[in-house]
Amino acid sequence: MIPFNKPFLTGKETAYIKQAVESGKISGDGIFTKRCHEFFESKYGFKKVLLTSSCTDALEMAALLLRTEPGDEIIAPSYTFVSTVNAFVLRGAKIIFTDSSPESPNIDVTKIEELITPKTKAIIPVHYAGIACDMDVIMDIANRHKIYVVEDAAQSIDAYYKGRPLGSIGQLSAFSFHETKNIISGEGGMLVMNDPSFIQRAEIIREKGTNRSAFFRGEIDKYGWVDIGSSFLPSEIIAAFLFAQLENMNKIQAKRKFSWETYHDALKPLAAKGYFKTPFIPAYATNNAHIYYIVCNTPDERQRLIAELKKEEIYSVFHYLSLHKSEFYKDKYSGPELPNSDHFSECLIRLPMFYDLSEKEIMQVVKVIKKFYNGNS
Ligand SMILES: *Cc1c(COP(=O)(O)O)cnc(C)c1O
Repeated sequence: MIPFNKPFLTGKETAYIKQAVESGKISGDGIFTKRCHEFFESKYGFKKVLLTSSCTDALEMAALLLRTEPGDEIIAPSYTFVSTVNAFVLRGAKIIFTDSSPESPNIDVTKIEELITPKTKAIIPVHYAGIACDMDVIMDIANRHKIYVVEDAAQSIDAYYKGRPLGSIGQLSAFSFHETKNIISGEGGMLVMNDPSFIQRAEIIREKGTNRSAFFRGEIDKYGWVDIGSSFLPSEIIAAFLFAQLENMNKIQAKRKFSWETYHDALKPLAAKGYFKTPFIPAYATNNAHIYYIVCNTPDERQRLIAELKKEEIYSVFHYLSLHKSEFYKDKYSGPELPNSDHFSECLIRLPMFYDLSEKEIMQVVKVIKKFYNGNS
């Protein structure tokens, strides 16, 4: 049996959790949270980061920090996870769904500018599979129209755009450490602030609308309720787990990249025959090996391939139903057809991808795919 995902443990997680528990401080913002913050700020040059309980939380904080309110419009791809936009819907914003580009699930940057109105508050690019959107184009549009960019960098750890880390380009960005991502803490996330004007208010929003963070640093003598907020910070138990993973980042990334390349080399000849498409990585983007996907030519072929793999106890999954067609949004959506988003919704398959996946298992997956296409041609 080959599962779709299997969380990887580096071995240090439980020792660090024990240390956190024995320290007597297990709520948030203790020593392990600080270590995680320092790791990200020094390795990627992010101005300021704050761990959150999920990427969803980080996106909700971003919506609050931008003072999103009813009437605002948010430009985002339809082909994404629900949290990318739900965070802004919670604040009453209208989502202006945008198509994917023809060659990748990322937002089609040529379609963005025509969607901007005086109500547009922000663009939320999603770097699908950790492969960068064309950020120079997006930032240029946003700067000219004086709107914000929040990167949904949930899948983008250790990925780069023209040499710059993803998550360091928009004013704000959000990462995920959910167990299906490259670096995990079960549930977990992080808000990144590249515009320092957000830092003070972010600390308050994350601490239930209080200035407790400044109080603990000794900057004020008492703390109180100063703004709206919620409880967005994770406990030290989560941060301890995450720190063990971060210490092994290079090892985890090297292994995942090897698996990705193994799939890619073995599947390229079939893609060259036109059976399906393999991931498109533009020259400006690196590959962080978060997802290995193929795009079938028809929805029916995809269903049959998933079934064929399942018969051999190999679990592949499809991804993202276009959000403008979701049960929640379809009656609210009045924009144009988004054919590329629909195409990826109907035809993309994610193959098993996790740290412990062996080369032998990858070749078993490839063998089933080969047999499927050779039998069909
Ligand atoms: C995983 C993911 C999220 C949500 O992350 P959580 O940490 O589970 O809240 C948001 N956006 C994208 C693109 C994701 O892949």
